[in-house]
Amino acid sequence: MTRREVLISGAGLAGPALALALHRHGMRATVVERAPALRDGGYKVDIRGAAIEVLKRLGLFEAVRAADTAMRTVTYVRADGSPIAALDASLLMGRRGDDREIMRTDLTRILYDATAGDVDYVFGDSIATLDERADGVAVTFASGVTRRFDLVVGADGLHSATRRLVLGDVPLRHLGAYISIFDVPEDLGLDHEEVFFCAPGRMVFAYSTGAAAGTRAGLVFASPQLPRPQDPRPILRERFAGMGWRVPAFLDALDGVPDLYFDSLSQVELPRWSAGRVVLLGDAAHCPAPSSGQGTSLALVGAYVLAGELAAADGHEAAFRRYETLMRPYAERNLRLGRKMAGDMVPGGGWQLAFRNYGMRTLKYNPWKRQIIEQVTKPLYEAATAIDLPAYPMAAAV
Ligand SMILES: Cc1cc2nc3c(=O)[nH]c(=O)nc-3n(C[C@H](O)[C@H](O)[C@H](O)COP(=O)(O)OP(=O)(O)OC[C@H]3O[C@@H](n4cnc5c(N)ncnc54)[C@H](O)[C@@H]3O)c2cc1C
Repeated sequence: MTRREVLISGAGLAGPALALALHRHGMRATVVERAPALRDGGYKVDIRGAAIEVLKRLGLFEAVRAADTAMRTVTYVRADGSPIAALDASLLMGRRGDDREIMRTDLTRILYDATAGDVDYVFGDSIATLDERADGVAVTFASGVTRRFDLVVGADGLHSATRRLVLGDVPLRHLGAYISIFDVPEDLGLDHEEVFFCAPGRMVFAYSTGAAAGTRAGLVFASPQLPRPQDPRPILRERFAGMGWRVPAFLDALDGVPDLYFDSLSQVELPRWSAGRVVLLGDAAHCPAPSSGQGTSLALVGAYVLAGELAAADGHEAAFRRYETLMRPYAERNLRLGRKMAGDMVPGGGWQLAFRNYGMRTLKYNPWKRQIIEQVTKPLYEAATAIDLPAYPMAAAV
């Protein structure tokens, strides 16, 4: 087998995971990341089902298990902070077996550390042009550097620039809400606990993964599509004005946040994931939206399958075809889940909220509580396991 040179755009989660799998299959990867360094920030992310098996095959499961958030409870509160209901976090989030929850930052770091010795990372640069030739792709970077690669992978997220270069402007499917996540100086006395406060069209949450870990807050609001703001802070202040609980303090904290995560709940649906020698991976190909809780798992599974198919097939065309055939039904199922869960994430009118609060308040007296929650979260388990992972022979961790 020739030693392929692969350029990956994006050092989020899909990019470094692919770089690791390619290295195990004897291919060389270069990762170019637009940000000047690995990006911190973001929420806790779930890794479920098939993605757990991928972590095991890549030798990363123990590191992920050691960094598990070990969240204990999720409490829903009223405007005065009094509890409506407290529920077991793992049960409510639909975790089964070895499923894990980890800070996005920790997973980024684990993937980076596993690859840094074998993969070239170029920070603070990005692809400017792609010129496909018979024997490879001539790439010009924004810095002016030019290089040739056998293949190019766009793992540059929801707003992928690689996707735009090869497929043009593809409209995203807006799911009717926006989400922002950031650190707050507030000490809410939370220890492996998460608190949710909901009002019609708005949801606020805060959590801490340990008494010493600080507090992270999230704001979610229902809205039709907005023009992408330069600075989302004024929008957040306006949308969450007048809300109770600790929301005024969270809004005050916005000014001091260096890497504010703000994005729409949007999905990517494409008729195809590759064009010539360029292929898309992770959110760039099939973002299921944060409401699905499955973006990270899809990114990990896609990386494993794409690398395995590139190693197994004769040419990249056959590999890209197999990758898409294997991944598409799994991705589409998770996108359907993301659409359904977006509707449940932000409560609509007062009646919907009152009904939900009533259900939660009475759940604690129900002897079938566990079975009821397991039934509600069953579609998540089914979507997370909706792929048969091929076994690809690869080198052990080196
Ligand atoms: C800072 C951050 C915080 C996040 N927080 C959450 C969260 O709290 N909850 C949630 O559900 N999802 C979150 N996400 C999205 C989640 O990580 C992804 O859905 C999922 O992990 C899929 O990973 P990905 O690698 O495909 O995309 P991403 O994790 O989005 O990674 C894409 C990477 O590509 C880089 N990039 C973008 N454009 C270019 C370019 N032109 N050239 C080179 N590099 C580029 C980005 O800087 C980023 O590092 C977050 C993403 C980021 C970047």
